[in-house]
Amino acid sequence: MSDTHHSQSGPRGFETTAIHAGNTADPVTGAVVPPIYQVSTYKQDGVGGLRGGYEYSRSANPTRTALEENLAALEGGRRGLAFASGLAAEDCLLRTLLSPGDHVVIPNDAYGGTFRLFAKVVSRWGVEWSVADTSDVDSVRAALTPKTKVVWVETPSNPLLGITDIAAVAQVAREAGARLVVDNTFASPYLQQPLALGADVVVHSMTKYMGGHSDVVGGALVVGDDALGDDLAFHQNAMGAVAGPFDSWLVLRGIKTLPVRMDRHSENATRVADMLTRHPRVTKVLYPGLPEHPGHEIAAKQMKAFGGMISFQVEGGEEAAVEVCNRAQLFTLGESLGGVESLIEHPGRMTHASVAGSALEVPADLVRLSVGIESADDLLADLKQALEGK
Ligand code: PLP
Repeated sequence: MSDTHHSQSGPRGFETTAIHAGNTADPVTGAVVPPIYQVSTYKQDGVGGLRGGYEYSRSANPTRTALEENLAALEGGRRGLAFASGLAAEDCLLRTLLSPGDHVVIPNDAYGGTFRLFAKVVSRWGVEWSVADTSDVDSVRAALTPKTKVVWVETPSNPLLGITDIAAVAQVAREAGARLVVDNTFASPYLQQPLALGADVVVHSMTKYMGGHSDVVGGALVVGDDALGDDLAFHQNAMGAVAGPFDSWLVLRGIKTLPVRMDRHSENATRVADMLTRHPRVTKVLYPGLPEHPGHEIAAKQMKAFGGMISFQVEGGEEAAVEVCNRAQLFTLGESLGGVESLIEHPGRMTHASVAGSALEVPADLVRLSVGIESADDLLADLKQALEGK
């Protein structure tokens, strides 16, 4: 047996799995990382005689397979599927699970693009949706109807860092015959494993912490059920928004350092959140690691650490928030998150402009940080000068 994640002594630690799952040595050359199989089609030995099980790279590609096996192992699932973007993964999932007349419950705080997919695309096929505060189990229960097929949760949420009790909502969804989908992008499987808490499907924008270096766009689905895994794989091939070989390779490489990166993101974010809570120009800090955060206890129960995302509100309203973003220097002004470099943005005008006027509208004085893994002292100094305007 080659050096895969299989172990004779039982399950391996997360760090070992991150580095080895799916990463079998190349059978031809012995290369210790999977090559980028930049190929569309495969020679057949006689009609239908597939040598390595591959026939066409939309259906399957060896570099993507390596990533998909790795994703399944990291989330403790049975099947992983890699897509061209997080939204491509979400689209495939919704078109697999939903039919006209079905109903979904979506959170009152979520990535703006996810909301747009429900409100502007999925709704056009006759799928109905209601918004719930998923941090409150009773609010989820109240939003359910006999037609509810999916309950969608993002925890921590984007951009308000709300926390949902995954195990509690999983139970409510199960009792209603609905599937629980958890967008695990902010936490990553190193910090939180929703399938073990009762979720049916995990969604990732791999563009963020999984890739980790702001150099690739990708998405993933992971499920614990073989039949659902087969159904999703059918739709992935039928719809075709797959992750390409180079993008798959980049994400596989990023994942190898996911545990060390997430530890440092969490440490740096803890220091930044602490500084912000004491800063006179900051009126509110949203970080689940803070004891005063309403979801702190649940986050401490279901997450290994609190991650690298922080949002905060500033004195002086929208203009002041925009000025803070514009003055930051080491924190790069930009959308997205989860890379090694720190980013700052104004959700109301940038990532969440598409939810303006909806139940998901975000406060105008909100600033969102993706705290990177630079020296924490430099990050604190930059934020102080951005807040103080000196
Ligand atoms: N889910 C969350 C929480 C996100 O932040 C994003 C993107 O910002 C997405 C999903 C969509 O992923 P992508 O941009 O890779 O399509």
